[in-house]
Amino acid sequence: MTKLYSNTANKQLIASMIQKGREPHSVLITGEPGGGKKALARYLAAALLCEEHTGEPCGKCRSCRMINDDVHPDLITAKSNENGNYRLDDIRALVSDTVVKPNEGRLKVYLIPDFDRSVSTAQAVQNVLLKAIEEPPAHCVMILTAATKEVFLPTIISRVVKFAAEPCSRHDAEEWLTLLGRFEQTDVIRAVGCCGGNFGRCLEFLEGGELRKAYDCARAAVEQIAEGSEYGLVKVFAQADAKGALLKQALQFLCETARSGCLLSAGAVSEDELRSREAGLLSKKLGQNGCERLYTLAANTKDRLERSANQSLAMNDFTAKCSGLLR
Ligand SMILES: [Zn+2]
Repeated sequence: MTKLYSNTANKQLIASMIQKGREPHSVLITGEPGGGKKALARYLAAALLCEEHTGEPCGKCRSCRMINDDVHPDLITAKSNENGNYRLDDIRALVSDTVVKPNEGRLKVYLIPDFDRSVSTAQAVQNVLLKAIEEPPAHCVMILTAATKEVFLPTIISRVVKFAAEPCSRHDAEEWLTLLGRFEQTDVIRAVGCCGGNFGRCLEFLEGGELRKAYDCARAAVEQIAEGSEYGLVKVFAQADAKGALLKQALQFLCETARSGCLLSAGAVSEDELRSREAGLLSKKLGQNGCERLYTLAANTKDRLERSANQSLAMNDFTAKCSGLLR
């Protein structure tokens, strides 16, 4: 069974509900993107379907093994289209299917992930779902996940048992990513350094998504600052200039690196603890004062971009002010 990290209180609540025979039939799991909602949903499904029925998945029974291999016929995940939207017909079919008895045991679990991403059809889809949530067949469990509960109809909110996915620690994320066995240790450390305990963001970083591009941009900027190259710095941001979201994220990484550089210069942390080569470079080149100024510059520029100021103007200002630091 894939281990569920953190979530101690949630695991206790799930165990207690199952042991007392008060299994929930409609569940809403909320939490930030990448923050383990689906992992908690699968854990809950596995605990409900486990043949041992102890309140937590045993990981060994036929049901647990089938869930682990993604082949359990009574764990059904709703499919969305490529934009993350749920089609009304698909949800209708899912709701119709709830009356059909389970294949294996007592329960059948339906998982509808990232429900709030389905903006265009949310209202209509919820009305269709409402039937299954208001009067679910005794063998049916419906688990929805969403970033917040704000998008839901009050009639749905009042009928679901709510769980909030608990954030994980950096240590948890490092262990999990290492166990996946797909990534270099140095990359894992970098990902956790940038994305903290958010497993989804760490994975996106390691798989070379937008986060990784932003990080590489910030890292290239640090290299140029360390070399004192004003021209190099301009070039780094000119190459990344096309996408505002990427620039904002890169500036965010730069802020964090400058803050680490600051702490390093002040002797508040050691280079070993920090495990950030880039913070070391900034600290050496700029010292505590310079790192502080870089932090402020990057944070202000990110604010400007968020207020949708002229992007190239804001970035030109930023690099011009940075070159003041380099002299
Ligand atoms: Zn089991």
